[in-house]
Parts: sequence; C-alpha cells; structure tokens
Amino acid sequence: MAVIGIDLGTTNSLAAVWKDEKVCLISDALGNFIVPSVVAVDMDENILVGYAAREEGILHPERCASNFKRFMGTTKIYRLAGREFTPEELSAIVLKKIKEIAEAFLNEEITEVIISVPAYFNNDQRYATKLAAELAGLYCERMINEPSAAALAARCECRKEEQSMLVFDFGGGTLDVSIVDCFENIVEITAIAGENHLGGADIDEAVALAFCVENEIDFSALTEKEKAELLLEAKRCKEAITFQEEAEMIFFLSGQQYSMILTTEKLLTASQALFRKMKQTVSRALKDAGLRSEDITKVLLAGGSSRMPAVKLFLERLFERELTNEGRPDFFIAEGIGIYTGIKERKEELQDILMTDVCPFSLGIRTAGASDEHDKMYMMIERNNILPCRVSEYFTTARDFQEIIRIEVYQGESYDPDKNLKIGELELEVPKAKKGKEGVQVTFTYNINGLLEVSVVNNSTKKQVKVEMVSGYHQLSKEQFAARKEQLEAMQYLSGEEEEHKTILALAERLFEETVGRTRQSIGILIEYYNCAWNSKSPIRIRQAGREVLQNLLAIEMQLKQFVFEPGMFEEQFEDGEDEK
Ligand code: ADP
Ligand code: MG
Repeated sequence: MAVIGIDLGTTNSLAAVWKDEKVCLISDALGNFIVPSVVAVDMDENILVGYAAREEGILHPERCASNFKRFMGTTKIYRLAGREFTPEELSAIVLKKIKEIAEAFLNEEITEVIISVPAYFNNDQRYATKLAAELAGLYCERMINEPSAAALAARCECRKEEQSMLVFDFGGGTLDVSIVDCFENIVEITAIAGENHLGGADIDEAVALAFCVENEIDFSALTEKEKAELLLEAKRCKEAITFQEEAEMIFFLSGQQYSMILTTEKLLTASQALFRKMKQTVSRALKDAGLRSEDITKVLLAGGSSRMPAVKLFLERLFERELTNEGRPDFFIAEGIGIYTGIKERKEELQDILMTDVCPFSLGIRTAGASDEHDKMYMMIERNNILPCRVSEYFTTARDFQEIIRIEVYQGESYDPDKNLKIGELELEVPKAKKGKEGVQVTFTYNINGLLEVSVVNNSTKKQVKVEMVSGYHQLSKEQFAARKEQLEAMQYLSGEEEEHKTILALAERLFEETVGRTRQSIGILIEYYNCAWNSKSPIRIRQAGREVLQNLLAIEMQLKQFVFEPGMFEEQFEDGEDEK
C-alpha cells in the first residue's frame, strides 16, 4: 500500500508519491496537481472542495472558507451556510479530497500519509494537523517540516560539491527560512527561522491598505464583503505584476469607481514593514547557522509568493548577487515530501540518504528569578537542536515546606516567560521539606514530528506525571472523535465527476462574464462543446472534453491575469511516468 506525501498549504495543497524510482506529483482526472485549500457549501447543501469551492466562494463568500490553516490549533469556528466547522474539520475535508484523487491516480487504497507542516507550527498546530488526517480516515505517523521537504527536493541540485543553501519558502500565510548543508547523500538542516503570520495574504492586505490611503477610503469602515473583494483585487494585481510592469487596481464602492496603479516599487513601499520582518528572519537563520550571507552558495526559492519580483529583488540586494529561478516554486515542497515517502518506505535507491532535522524554537520552563520578583525562562532545549532530543534537569523547591511543584512549559526565545507562548503545565506533589531539599527531575522529549512530551518525577516518592504538551480541547475522547468523524462522513459530497462538471461550468460562466469579444466567443464555444459531451453521457467523452475545456479555461484565466502560460503546467507527462526534471 502506498504512502503519499501531502503539502497541506494555506492556499494550495498538493500530493506526491515515490513511484518507479522517482518522485511523481499526483494529479486529478483533469490533470490538475493543485487542490486549492478551500471548502464551500453550495445551495444544495453539498460540500465543495478545491476549484469548485473557490468558484463558489467568488459568488458567495459567506458559503466558503479558505486560509484555515492559519487557525489550526485554535478554537476558531467557521460558519458556512448554517453549519459549523473547526479548522481541522475543514482541513480534513481537503485531505479527504486528496485521498480520493490519489486513490484514483494510483489505483489503490490510501490509508497513510506524511504531511508537511511549517517548521514554526507549535504542538497544538501539529496535533490539529494529525487530527485532521485522522478525521479524513488517514493515519499520519509522520509530519515533516516544510523546509526539510524543500531541502530534500533541493538535494538533487548539490550532489557533487558541498553546498550551503538557504531555502526561502514564502507561501500564502507563512515564511520559512532554512539553512541546509548538502553533500553527496547527506542533507543536514542546520537552522530554521520562520514567521507563522507572514505570507502572500499579508502583502495583499498591505496593498489593499495602500489603495485605501491613496483613495481616501476608510478600510476599517468597509463591510466584510467589501473587504474581501478589495483583498481579492489586491491579490489579483499583486500576481499580475509578476509578469508585467504595472497593473491597474479597480474597486467599486457605493457606485463609485476607485483605482490605483500598482507597480513593484509601490508594492515594496506598501509592504516595507513585511520586508523588514523577512530580513530579520533571514538574519536570524544565518546567525543561528553561524554563517554570513557570503557563505551561502545557493539561495532557493519556494512557495507561490517567491514569484514576486519584489521578493527576488529583496533577496538579491540582501545577498549581493543575482538569483536564478529554478524549478517551480509552488511544487517544491510537494516534491520534497514525495521523496520523503520513498525514504520512509526504505526504497533502495534512496536508502543512502541521511537527513537530519532540527527543533525550530526553544523550549523551556518558568523558574523563579534570583530577586524572586521576576520569573525567567530556563531553556531546556534550545532552538536548532538536532531531532529527536531529550534533556533532563533537576529542579528543587523554592520555598520551605512547599507541597507542590508546578512546571509551566513555554516555547519561545524571550528571557521573560510572559513574552513566550505557554504550551502547558504539570504539577507534582513533593514531600514537605526545607527549601531546596526536595525536587523533581524534569525531562523534555522532543520527537521527530516536532511534538513535545514532558515528564516530572520526584525521587523520594517515585511519583511521576507525563504529559504530551497539547491544549485540552484537542484531547477528544474516543466517542467525541467518532462522532465528529461520522458527522464529516455523513455530509453530502459530490462525486468526482459531478464536482468536475460543476467546476468547469462555474469557471466557464464566470470567465464568460468577465470577458468580451473573441475571448468571450471562444469561451462560449468551449461551453457548448463541453455541454455536448456531457449530454452524450459517454464517460470517456466527458472526461476528454472536460480535460481539454478546463485546460483552455485555466489558460484563459491566466492570460486575464497577464500570466505567462507556463509550458508543462498541464502536460500529462507525469502520467506517462516521465519525471519533471
Ligand atoms: P501555501 O504554501 O501557503 O499554500 P503557496 O506556496 O501555494 O502557499 O503560495 C500561495 C501564495 O502565493 C498566495 O498568497 C498567492 O497570492 C501567491 N502567488 C501565487 N502566484 C503568484 C504570483 N505570480 N505573484 C505573486 N504572488 C503569487
Ligand atoms: Mg507552502
């Protein structure tokens, strides 16, 4: 049984597998590799996922949820058409869809997955991801940090000479910077630094705000729907200026038209604060790895937001050299996890690859400061320690006849525990004694999935508590879990064909509305051609027509955004077993 790797992204998700001695991206029946991480509920109460959901969301934003990866591990609730969903349920729906696509693609049942997560995901976010997989009926024994996946994908670039690479993965919601040393078959991650809330969506927001300033609009006074429309327009223009000098941003408000010309220059000014944060992140990664920028032999770009010329400019300035774009940044992570599935399954041709991963943040406990006024952080595991790792320390009581020792566990880099993130606490009774006479042995065990377990033992009583650090709400009872899984399964899903049908028609109709002239005529012809095939009821004809029509529609959509059509984007070479590279 195959194990597939999934890049469960904030914006887009992809899956890959190790097959016939190479990595193979998984595509759906229509040849798409990408499943947008979007879920919607349509008018008939059907759950839609991916492109179909994205189309629904353009018309009915209130029936659609996206960007939920940003809220994994929180108690946020999404309300769609009167139904409630948690972020992990929405992720489970996306994972279910990917499972289905992969099963059709590989022609076998998929029960196990490896999922990539941002290095900066904390325990709660990792548990939420695991839970999402389980809700989708998938066993997820292993999670891999996204930068590590990128490192694996990058490995093929450096088999000969030793390289110190910096991988800059800039997606829709997160930035991960990692330093990877590669030599022959050894891939060693030496440092990771990241920002959990810095991505393309923040750039969209910065552009939207600049638009409001220029047009004297009060952003905060806009309705949710108006904000969403403005952000979408900002995103459209941001993406358009990847391939052209400028784009005109247009927005209607109360019947009045507002506009702004967006250029890379303007985007840089609008998002100065974000670029400053990026610089800090890069500097921290370099510092932790003990390197200077000139020691980096290669800078690799991953993630959709790395396509922005502004990002390339920024990195070129920072590293004082020209950068070349290699591969396709959007697929980089997925390719890496695909390779990882091969390693995990101990495929012979990959057996000699050694990969080490590191802990992305420091972990410690709150201890009393010397003055007894201010508590301080005692670091148990420092960031960038190699995984897995275990550290054990002895702590004594701070007061006479203290009965309980409480261990509060934090994640973060600050001296002041209150400035770090508290991830849990444990308590243990100790025999009453003079201050400093009794104590506990505290052990932190950090596993390869980036999950932390803390145990506390008292030597006199031999009493022990051991806790996996995760907020209470994730600890569903068996019954609760079963109920939620059942609920998800009981929802109405469209069959693969129905969903394709709906996506194609919705996309075609929207593009028909958005265009004029010859383009519009050709869309009309595509719709007719597709309807004819659909009416023929021949599955083969429907599939063939669907594939052709969708490819054409997506190409038209890209042209509308002034996208350069990427050769190979929809080619079927993967199916023929041809490798991409
Ligand atoms: P994630 O890993 O978070 O799912 P991706 O790596 O797929 O994200 O990147 C999605 C982000 O990339 C979005 O914010 C999107 O706007 C941005 N993006 C995609 N294409 C372009 C482009 N041509 N120019 C600028 N940004 C782009
Ligand atoms: Mg990503």
